[in-house]
Amino acid sequence: AGILNFCANNYLGLSSHPEVIRAAVEALEKFGAGLSSVRFICGTQSIHKDLEEKIAHFHQREDAILYASCFDANAGIFEALLTPEDAVLSDELNHASIIDGIRLCKANKYRYKHMDMQDLEAKLQDAQKHRLRLVATDGAFSMDGDIAPLREICQLAQKYDALVFIDECHATGFLGPSGRGTDELLGVMDKVTIINSTLGKALGGAAGGYTTGPKPLIDLLRQRSRPYLFSNSLPPAVVGCASKALDLLMESNAIAQSMAAKTQRFRSKMTAAGFTISGKDHPICPVMLGDARLAAVMAEDMLNRGIYVIGFSYPVVPKGKARIRVQISAVHSDEDIDCCVEAFTEVGRKHGALP
Ligand code: PLP
Repeated sequence: AGILNFCANNYLGLSSHPEVIRAAVEALEKFGAGLSSVRFICGTQSIHKDLEEKIAHFHQREDAILYASCFDANAGIFEALLTPEDAVLSDELNHASIIDGIRLCKANKYRYKHMDMQDLEAKLQDAQKHRLRLVATDGAFSMDGDIAPLREICQLAQKYDALVFIDECHATGFLGPSGRGTDELLGVMDKVTIINSTLGKALGGAAGGYTTGPKPLIDLLRQRSRPYLFSNSLPPAVVGCASKALDLLMESNAIAQSMAAKTQRFRSKMTAAGFTISGKDHPICPVMLGDARLAAVMAEDMLNRGIYVIGFSYPVVPKGKARIRVQISAVHSDEDIDCCVEAFTEVGRKHGALP
């Protein structure tokens, strides 16, 4: 009965949490459907200020600024921060919104090979001639479920006097001992300067994004960041959802732990069944299949068995590296996980992905 969704970014299942829904309804009733304004005119209500403070507190940073999405946060930061005298060094597999944000700025651009520290170091050496250096990376990469080597990145940043920016869309709320993200997981919370993340995935799944970091940087973004200045304020219901989601995560990390246990269950059972799962310990579990057609027909057949997953192929992932990307959520039960593994095993055998 019904379809099990294994392709949402709803890592903690908070989009259907009764307290999150109630908080949205209360904010809607109290503050209305929307503010009909950008933030600096009449689009700022107490809930926006409170959420910014809560985000900064959650990440243990000085301040935070909200955007309509993390795409906007990424589009707005590089241009506001960097000048033609500066340099930005970006992992080649960074999210499209980081790539677009970097395109908009006039800084000198370096693209280093995916998680390749030798290449990053070479590019940092070359970038010494510039005034300021910013290394930009996804904390967790959404196509492979792999995690940036932030310890090494921060060491290099220290050595070559660079700032570190991370996009935590696939980490905020669940990576690290208390779900603060990749920087907490790898013990570099005090070394990463800027975090951009989304409210549209683990934190309730509605919409919205933010930058958190040093107060002078946030002040600068409020003055100069174009998606912040020229786009409508976040609707109260969306703010209410995210604010409650953060409250729940700051009270306890039981939900994140439950998701981690289910991720472990899925990864180990799929590996035992003979599949190759990319990444390690992350709820993004790409089932590597290689062939684009195989990924498409298997995903279709999974749906016939009540499991909703999507095949990814070129140009979304490199040629010959097609996969079905499974995403685990805290709302999946152990039975749901087992059901998914069983369906993969049957479908994999049918289409020759398994012996
Ligand atoms: N950065 C990464 C790594 C993402 O995966 C996404 C969403 O797909 C974004 C940024 C954009 O986030 P939002 O949906 O809040 O615009």
